[in-house]
Amino acid sequence: MNRDYDVIVIGAGAAGLAAALGASQAGASVLVIEADRQVGGSSRLSGGHFYAAGTSVQRDAGVANDSAEAMFEHYMTLNQWLVEPSVVRRYCDLSAPTFEWLKGLGVEFRPEGVYRSGVSSVPRGHRPEGGGARIVEVLHGHLGDRNVDVVFNTRANELIADASGRINGVRAGDDVATCGAVILSTGGFGANPGLLQQHYPQAARAGNWSWYIGTPFAQGDAFAMAQALDADLAGHDRGLLLVTPGFSRDLEVLLPGWLVMVNATGHRFADETSPYTVLGGLIEREGGHAFAVFDEAARAAARPSPISQAYWVNDVLARKADEGRIARADTLEALALRIGADPAVLAGTIARYNADCVRGVDSVYFKEAASGMRPIVSPPFYAAELRPAIICWTGAGLRIDADTRVLRRDEAFIPGLYAAGETVGSLHGDRYIGGGGSYGPCVVFGRLAGTTAAAYVQALVD
Ligand SMILES: Cc1cc2nc3c(=O)[nH]c(=O)nc-3n(C[C@H](O)[C@H](O)[C@H](O)COP(=O)(O)OP(=O)(O)OC[C@H]3O[C@@H](n4cnc5c(N)ncnc54)[C@H](O)[C@@H]3O)c2cc1C
Repeated sequence: MNRDYDVIVIGAGAAGLAAALGASQAGASVLVIEADRQVGGSSRLSGGHFYAAGTSVQRDAGVANDSAEAMFEHYMTLNQWLVEPSVVRRYCDLSAPTFEWLKGLGVEFRPEGVYRSGVSSVPRGHRPEGGGARIVEVLHGHLGDRNVDVVFNTRANELIADASGRINGVRAGDDVATCGAVILSTGGFGANPGLLQQHYPQAARAGNWSWYIGTPFAQGDAFAMAQALDADLAGHDRGLLLVTPGFSRDLEVLLPGWLVMVNATGHRFADETSPYTVLGGLIEREGGHAFAVFDEAARAAARPSPISQAYWVNDVLARKADEGRIARADTLEALALRIGADPAVLAGTIARYNADCVRGVDSVYFKEAASGMRPIVSPPFYAAELRPAIICWTGAGLRIDADTRVLRRDEAFIPGLYAAGETVGSLHGDRYIGGGGSYGPCVVFGRLAGTTAAAYVQALVD
């Protein structure tokens, strides 16, 4: 029993704060080590949407009969069962109870904030009042009343194990704290170009178009700390990339409906207004880039709108064409040659699309006419390259079991080591389940890691 703390949590984002509170509520003494001068990490910057099934707020919103089973089925089908079912199942089972716990702590979710996030037919996205920052504030606030210390400006760099391999301490530079168990919740690695190259090559392939929207502390420190103990990894090359023309570092989530998106050959391949959860993946399948085609009439009419203030605006488009960043030509055939597409294919694609515009129906990809569909007829014609390049979160990380225990490559557990949040790689598939599908599991597995680690420490015989 001679240790500084029962549980040490490394990283104080949503996952780490939920872990600290979970462990403390289960009776453990807790130290939280945070590299930044404040709590919150990317969670503080986030919308904080929470993807969950079977909640009281869904019921208040008139969404009856949703369930963990239905959520699991959708999650696994969307990802062709290429994710670990036991981990996904635990998330689905605990999503509603953890959501209610968060609500009980004081985070407000209104029925109006329940929406269809991603591509599921059931509304499971829950928008919190005050966004991710409010969730961080509430979780952090509750720690103040408990047996939890938080140290800031301290970057943990090593996990310490005893002779039997049991984790019993953490080093941060010259400082060491001892404990019965450690929870790694250092977030993702979106701010670390070297790790992106290694674990999320899709994002790295976007080159200097790629940028991360979260905290600069998302350096993926958990990789080195846990891999020194032979920890296994999962989720290679997974994460969420938003599509951008790369003109600036503005966060825009959707494309306007008046664009026509074609692949490198000149074929259309998707509804241009597809949810952001799938659009990046669709472009990735086309080789990692595509082109947004439009005509002079569309360019001239392009005004700032709720979905675009920075990119798809008439003067910006004219300037980018002048700079050579957008291809411009007097005929579609000439435009095709400028972008390396097949002239006959591009002309045929646009002819078919224009005919659909006249009929008012996208007969191939079902884009809603009301999204702004318009024929492409007035020269000059334009093509702006698009890439999935804005990194929202990273999906590769430590492999855990359904109780958040960190697994070694030989499938054994590293005793006393737990992980939660973006640090974990076992949860996400090639397709993002929907808005709230990253923050939700951070809180779910954070709290679970806290309670599981506390129980482990209580059972230790020193
Ligand atoms: C702008 C934005 C909007 C988003 N919107 C949504 C959304 O609406 N819904 C959704 O599901 N997802 C969303 N996401 C993604 C989601 O918010 C994140 O995946 C989630 O918040 C990550 O939480 P986390 O606790 O794992 O990591 P973080 O919140 O990043 O916390 C990790 C913490 O660990 C600290 N740390 C790192 N290394 C060390 C170290 N060595 N020692 C000590 N401390 C360390 C960091 O400083 C940080 O405070 C969004 C992300 C961003 C950036």
